[in-house]
Amino acid sequence: MWYMNEERELIRNVARDFAQKELKPVALQIDKSGEFPLEQFKRAGELGLLGINIPEEYGGLGGDYTTLALVNEEIAKVMPVLTIAMGAHSVLAGELLLMLGTPEQKAKYLAPAATGEIILACAQTEAVGGSNQVEYSCRAVADGDDFVINGTKVLISNIGVADVYIVMTVTGEKIDPATRSGMSAFIVEAGTPGLEIGKPEVKLGWHGSATGSISFKNCRVPKENLLGPLHGGMQALFISSTNEFLTCGPVGLGMAEACYEAALDYSMQRVQCGQSMFDRFQVTRHKLVKMWSDIEALRALVYSVFSMKDQGHLCLAQGRLLKAKGAEVSEAVAREAIQLFGGVGCIVDTGIERFWRDAKVLAIGGASIEALNEQISIMMKNKML
Ligand SMILES: Cc1cc2nc3c(=O)[nH]c(=O)nc-3n(C[C@H](O)[C@H](O)[C@H](O)COP(=O)(O)OP(=O)(O)OC[C@H]3O[C@@H](n4cnc5c(N)ncnc54)[C@H](O)[C@@H]3O)c2cc1C
Repeated sequence: MWYMNEERELIRNVARDFAQKELKPVALQIDKSGEFPLEQFKRAGELGLLGINIPEEYGGLGGDYTTLALVNEEIAKVMPVLTIAMGAHSVLAGELLLMLGTPEQKAKYLAPAATGEIILACAQTEAVGGSNQVEYSCRAVADGDDFVINGTKVLISNIGVADVYIVMTVTGEKIDPATRSGMSAFIVEAGTPGLEIGKPEVKLGWHGSATGSISFKNCRVPKENLLGPLHGGMQALFISSTNEFLTCGPVGLGMAEACYEAALDYSMQRVQCGQSMFDRFQVTRHKLVKMWSDIEALRALVYSVFSMKDQGHLCLAQGRLLKAKGAEVSEAVAREAIQLFGGVGCIVDTGIERFWRDAKVLAIGGASIEALNEQISIMMKNKML
């Protein structure tokens, strides 16, 4: 592959072995139980897979983005939900710490996060709508040596298992997305009085992502827990979110590959009127060709965008494009795979339908495709594409 080199291949192989030997035997069980894959998350930390994007000085591997894509692709082929927990931890929250943290904050929170010693969550969304930031009301107010936080965040991943929450709050008069002002990030440790953690929601897909609400009731954090400049958290959030959107490309790719490979095997083995489905039905072959071609088109897009990212581009529009395409291709391929499996494709134990459920959530969780397209259209108008 044009995007492979020795170092990337080495880490890709670690991720592949981990996925095939340690995740595969438990993936279906995690999906059924909906429990956060804590043991697997910690193991990913031991293997260095939580610190790929984190510099070596903070305990990470200091790898490039292409390596992060390869790891996400391998894990998503087997247990997509682990990539979601990893994305919230290492990319969404981890990169906020990396971009905004003081050396003390990085030593205290980023270094143990890189090895999985502590788990991070990032809380942005409120009930008024994920992209409706102007109407956010979770507010932090200065009071003596502290800030006092009040409000509620919804649909936050890694709740309950997280040791540290990076919380986006209103601190200005209002949040202004145009100037990216009025929002500040705070580090809130689990167990801080006034921080209440809800129960994970039961949902369509991403079973085990521990996604739910957290509330702040006069939750006091010391001023040292302000992450980055006061009112200045939004620009960094825009970048860390973009990087998380980017990773949805290889996640979608991995899910689609898993479904295509399973459907191809099945169609070769399933006998209909004396012949394999593959040999007997042209429509089966053509479905598989379409699945393969959509995957290869996504692969080319993913690794060319990640190569741009490694060359220092922010990939603001491309990150959004990858999230949309990753969700679109994985959902379409998973849907066709279920169809090719027929009745058994609808059975949970076959292990195919869970990819379709996870792919559907990929089109919403983190940001809906429509909201992302809206953002791309603004970049289009401003000639930023
Ligand atoms: C499983 C899961 C995990 C999540 N994890 C986290 C997390 O860790 N941290 C966190 O902060 N959030 C998280 N979220 C929240 C997620 O980011 C939001 O669900 C997402 O941004 C959509 O917002 P919403 O749910 O409020 O839907 P709404 O914003 O109400 O959107 C509903 C629909 O309205 C349309 N729409 C909304 N806004 C626009 C727009 N600007 N332009 C065009 N159409 C629009 C779209 O069709 C959209 O699908 C998670 C969500 C899920 C489902």
